Amino acid sequence: MKFAQMPYKRIDAGDVISRYAQLERAMHDAADGDSQWEIHQRYYEVYSEYLSMMTIAEIRNDVDVTDAYYKEEKAYYDEVNPEVETARLSYLKALAASPYRRELERHIGKVAFKSMDIAFRAMDEKIIDLKQEENRLMTEYDRLIATAEIDWEGETLNLSLLRPYMTNVDREVRKRAWRKFTEYFSEVGDRLDDIYDRLVKNRTAQAQRLGAEDFRALGYDRMNRHSYGPEEVEQFRRQIKQDFVPFAQKVEENRRRRLGIEKLAFYDDGVAFSRGNPRPIGSPREIMEAGQRMYSELSPETKEFFDFMMENELFDVLGRKTKKAGGYMTEIPKYSSPYIFANFNGTSGDVDVITHECGHAFQGYISGKDPVMEHRDITMDTAEIHSMSMEFFTSRWMEEFFGEEADAYRKMQLEDAVLFIPYGCMVDEFQHIVYANPGMSARERHEVWKSLEKEYRPHLDYEDAAYFAKGGFWQKQSHIYTSPFYYIDYVLSQFCALQYKLWMDKDYGEAWDSYLQLCRISAGRFYEDMLCAVGLTSPFSQGSVRRMIQSLAPMLGIVESGI
Ligand code: ZN
Repeated sequence: MKFAQMPYKRIDAGDVISRYAQLERAMHDAADGDSQWEIHQRYYEVYSEYLSMMTIAEIRNDVDVTDAYYKEEKAYYDEVNPEVETARLSYLKALAASPYRRELERHIGKVAFKSMDIAFRAMDEKIIDLKQEENRLMTEYDRLIATAEIDWEGETLNLSLLRPYMTNVDREVRKRAWRKFTEYFSEVGDRLDDIYDRLVKNRTAQAQRLGAEDFRALGYDRMNRHSYGPEEVEQFRRQIKQDFVPFAQKVEENRRRRLGIEKLAFYDDGVAFSRGNPRPIGSPREIMEAGQRMYSELSPETKEFFDFMMENELFDVLGRKTKKAGGYMTEIPKYSSPYIFANFNGTSGDVDVITHECGHAFQGYISGKDPVMEHRDITMDTAEIHSMSMEFFTSRWMEEFFGEEADAYRKMQLEDAVLFIPYGCMVDEFQHIVYANPGMSARERHEVWKSLEKEYRPHLDYEDAAYFAKGGFWQKQSHIYTSPFYYIDYVLSQFCALQYKLWMDKDYGEAWDSYLQLCRISAGRFYEDMLCAVGLTSPFSQGSVRRMIQSLAPMLGIVESGI
C-alpha cells in the first residue's frame, strides 16, 4: 500500500491499555504454553496496530510540520505513550514470569526473554521523576545546539548549515567556518558543562536508586547489551590504542600529503582531497533512479525491496521548507513497510541515504516478514552493521552517483571508516571515565578529553582554537549528552562492515550471502554467536584488530612492518 493511502485512525490510549490488561489476565489464567503463545500473538496485533498508527502520525507530522491535524495527533501520542508503555511492560512481565517460559522460548527465542529481563531491570517506577528531568536536560542540550545563530558573511546560519563550509575546498574558508564553530562552543561552553554535569549526576542517582554504585551497568542495560560488558569493550579499546591508532596515523599522513599541506589542522578534518570532496552528480530524481538500477542489479532480494519502496512511495527525501530537518529510517509494522525520511542537500550525504539508510531499511524489510515481532528489536551494534556494510556492498555502483569521482569517493569512504574507529573509541572511553567518577568537575572532564585526544588522535592540532585545545570538543558530540554509551556500537559495526569489505573483494557472492543471513537472523541470536554464525570475527576476539590492519594496509597504500 502506498504510504499516502495508509488509513490513519487515532488509537484510544484507554482502549489499548485495557486490552493489554486483558491479555495480561489471560496470560495468568492460561493452562499451558500453547495457549500462552496464542495470547502472545494477539498481543502482537494490538502492539502492531498501535505502533503503526503512532508512526504514521509521526511521519505525516514530520513531512509537513504545518499540518495542524497530525501535529495534534503526534502530541496525543507523546502525552499518552508513557502510560501505554507501562501497561505493555506489565503484560510482558506476566509473559516473562510464565511457568511455560521454556516452551515460549522455542517460539520467540532466548534473546527476547533476556532483553525483557534487562528492560525490567533498567526501568522502575522509582526513577520516573529522574527520567523526566533527564529528558528535560537532553532537550535543553538539543535546543542549545539547534538554535545556534552563526553570522556567516551577512547570513545567519545554524550549525548544520555551517557544516558544508567546514569542509570547504578552500582552506581559508573552512578555517573561518571552524573559527565560527569554535566561537559558538566557547560562548555556550559553561552552559553545556552545566547541563552535562546535571545529566551525569541525574543518571548516577537513577543507578543508585536501583541499587548500583554508578551509572555504568545501567547504561549498558539501557543499550540492551546482553552478551558483553565493559571489560570486553575495554579490552577492544586497548587493541585499538595499541595497534590501530599508529595505523590510522599513517592514513592521516597520506591524507596530509594529498592535501599538500605541511601540518594537518583540526579544520582539515573530513577533507579528503585538495580538489575537494566528491559530490554527487544528477538531480534527486536521478539519484533515486540510479538507486533503483543499483539495487535491481545487486540481488533479487534488494530488487524486490527497492521496487517495493518506490512503488509504495516510502521515501520522502526532497528538502522542503515545511519539513522537519534531519533524516531517519523507520518502520510501519502493520504493512511491513520501512520508511525513509531525508533532506537531500547536494552533498555525498544524499548518496548515504541510498546506501546507509537503505541498508537499515532493507534489513527492516526482511525482518518485517518475520512473524515474531521480538526478532525486530535489534541492538544498535547489529543495526549499524546492516547499514555500514551496505555502504560497501553498493560501492561498486558509485559511478552512477559520482561519475568520474567514483574512485575518489571509494577511497574517501574507506579512509573515513578507518579514521572513525579511534574517534569512536575515544568517545566511549571518555564516558566510561566520566560515569565511573561522577564527582569530577567540569575542568577535570575537559582534561580527561584532552589527554584522550593525545592518545587516540595525536596528530590533532587545534592551533589558536583555545576552547577546543583545552578539551572542549566533546561537547559537540550529541550522543555524549543524549545517548550515553551509544557510540562504541558504531565502532563495533564499522569493524564488522570492514570485514565484509575485505570479504567482498575476495568473493562478493559469498560475502553477500553471509550479509543476507545476518539480516535474516535479525535479533534472533546473541551478538557474538550471530557474528560467528555468519562467518564474521567478533571484534572482541584477541588479535582481531591486528589481523584487520594487516588486511587493510595494502588497500590504503600503507606498508606495515612488524605485525
Ligand atoms: Zn545508521
